[in-house]
Amino acid sequence: MYDIEKFYQAADVEDAVRALQEDPQGVVISGGSDVLIKIREGKLAGCNLVSIHGIKELEGISMDEEGAILIGPGTTFSHITNNKIIQTHIPILGDAVDMAGGPQLRNIGTVGGNVCNGVTSADSASSLCCLDAILVLKGPEGVREVPISRWYTGPGKTVRDHAEVLTSIKIKRESYEGFGGHYIKYGKRNAMEIATLGCAVMVKLTEDKKHVEELRLGYGVAAPTPIRCRETEKAVKGMEIGEALAEAVGKGALEEVNPRSSWRASKEFRLQLVEELGRRALKDAVIKAGGEWDD
Ligand SMILES: Cc1cc2nc3c(=O)[nH]c(=O)nc-3n(C[C@H](O)[C@H](O)[C@H](O)COP(=O)(O)OP(=O)(O)OC[C@H]3O[C@@H](n4cnc5c(N)ncnc54)[C@H](O)[C@@H]3O)c2cc1C
Repeated sequence: MYDIEKFYQAADVEDAVRALQEDPQGVVISGGSDVLIKIREGKLAGCNLVSIHGIKELEGISMDEEGAILIGPGTTFSHITNNKIIQTHIPILGDAVDMAGGPQLRNIGTVGGNVCNGVTSADSASSLCCLDAILVLKGPEGVREVPISRWYTGPGKTVRDHAEVLTSIKIKRESYEGFGGHYIKYGKRNAMEIATLGCAVMVKLTEDKKHVEELRLGYGVAAPTPIRCRETEKAVKGMEIGEALAEAVGKGALEEVNPRSSWRASKEFRLQLVEELGRRALKDAVIKAGGEWDD
């Protein structure tokens, strides 16, 4: 049984904002795959739910006239993976969310829930960090945009105010055009497993496809929040594709991460994964960006 005090189905985003504003105990529920688990575990027992499930303006993926990709937070993982815009322009995100849970989970879990839960192991997080996603929120004061680099404030914590609803995840054209990207999730098994470590690399190559024009390196579970390794990104700019680059990415990342030991893995093992997954994701990202990689 689920211990729920009240359940309110919002008619639209404004109605959800109003309901949250009126109820300091109100908790947004979208797909419910995090919230319902927390209710059952007792962490959210007796809560008042404000459901945004089924609100059409929160679902679907489109591209605006400037080429920005707009992802409705209520879009499920499976719809993201199967969407043409995602497959054509940012397949890294479709691939990343396709690694979450199992088929049932991917049909109910939403990308907005994955962003709003604020957890470092969220499978969409390191790719969205590399894509410089902008999170659009609507609250009692109106609409505001938060770059994902300023979203996470601690484990399970974000800058979202109580009465704000995430209404869109925006990825500007310059954040994805010309990049190849690859995400690797390491877990003890392939399905129904939260990441022990996640690593996303996006790379844009020079015209001759032999050097790095720009590289983005993101990790999940390598720190209390999802992170980008910005010093390493700067250091490898202009480097030639090859072993020295892989070394610079792997070793550079080690200087910027701060993983912890948990029952899933020790800090030492996670550090090993940081280096190795960084190297492997780099190689695949380079190939996807049109470059060659000789082993
Ligand atoms: C069996 C199982 C396996 C799982 N495996 C994985 C996995 O492999 N990888 C992974 O990343 N996750 C996994 N998860 C976690 C979960 O499925 C995901 O985090 C999912 O994206 C949550 O989406 P949801 O719509 O179900 O979120 P909900 O449970 O509805 O909400 C999650 C949080 O986000 C808030 N929220 C949701 N939408 C909005 C919005 N638009 N505006 C404001 N706040 C909002 C809610 O208040 C809540 O705090 C798993 C969960 C289960 C139960």
